[in-house]
Amino acid sequence: MVEVIKTTGDMKARAALSRARGDTVGFVPTMGALHEGHLSLIRRARAENDVVIISIFVNPVQFDRNDDYRGYPRPLERDLAMAYEEGVDVAFVPDVEQVYPEGYSTFIEVRGSLTDVLCGASRPGHFRGVTTVVTKLFNIIRPDRAYFGQKDLQQAAIIKRLVRDLNMGVEVVTLPTVREADGLALSSRNRHLSGEQRRTAVSIHRALTRATELLISGEMDTAVIVCEVRGVLNEGGIARIDYVSVVDPETLEEVSEARPGAVVAVAAWVGDIRLIDNTALGVGPESQLFMHLNVETV
Ligand code: AMP
Repeated sequence: MVEVIKTTGDMKARAALSRARGDTVGFVPTMGALHEGHLSLIRRARAENDVVIISIFVNPVQFDRNDDYRGYPRPLERDLAMAYEEGVDVAFVPDVEQVYPEGYSTFIEVRGSLTDVLCGASRPGHFRGVTTVVTKLFNIIRPDRAYFGQKDLQQAAIIKRLVRDLNMGVEVVTLPTVREADGLALSSRNRHLSGEQRRTAVSIHRALTRATELLISGEMDTAVIVCEVRGVLNEGGIARIDYVSVVDPETLEEVSEARPGAVVAVAAWVGDIRLIDNTALGVGPESQLFMHLNVETV
């Protein structure tokens, strides 16, 4: 079985022991309800490090809606079995009081253009919650490498900035989005979709594919691309769109001309479930783009 650690003290001691032995530590932070997306990060961590640690923690301070936090799936036994299958050494599974004990008062915030836009604009406090918990987890575990999914494009960009700004000395590795056969990006929230909503949700991928087709056919104007993407979403039954934006993947600044490497990012609601996805324009399989964006050492 995977070694399950529940307290920050024990986790610190276990990670320190690995470091003292000279082992490299790869870390995959998750909120659980593991799927192939998470497993792709774990597999990469397994291939690149002596010890693989995952965290499973539904972080209350990054939720902007209480119902979303309460309803977040927590299939812990299944997660631990999957982690074991992938060769995870340690699962850090703290409860809320371990991470935010009585009197907790410190928050870490990346400010400015990376956090003001996209999901940061519509989910106040979300990234502050993410950067706070990631800082805590990095301090407890002090990994050599940490693995994040490009599906959460903005999160990955913000964590890279956090690590750089605070000289954390962690190598941040980002990996391509894992999808269902029909293109829907895997997400723990997908399990809340009804059969009909599931069929509607695939239009997000269809809309992103349309954006790539437009670029290939010579369309460079991102205003036209955004309009088309919105059209495909609407046709597919998605009326409530949070944003459709073409951005530089590192600065997240909007670009007016679609050049290869720019990313089309979408957040939209299917019923009361908010889904996000993105795709890099004009670079073929996503992995080609991410190979050169992939690793940032600080
Ligand atoms: P979460 O459990 O949703 O906080 O996600 C934990 C990590 O898994 C984050 O770095 C996510 O970006 C990553 N992740 C989530 N979904 C996917 C996916 N479909 N493909 C690749 N990585 C993913």
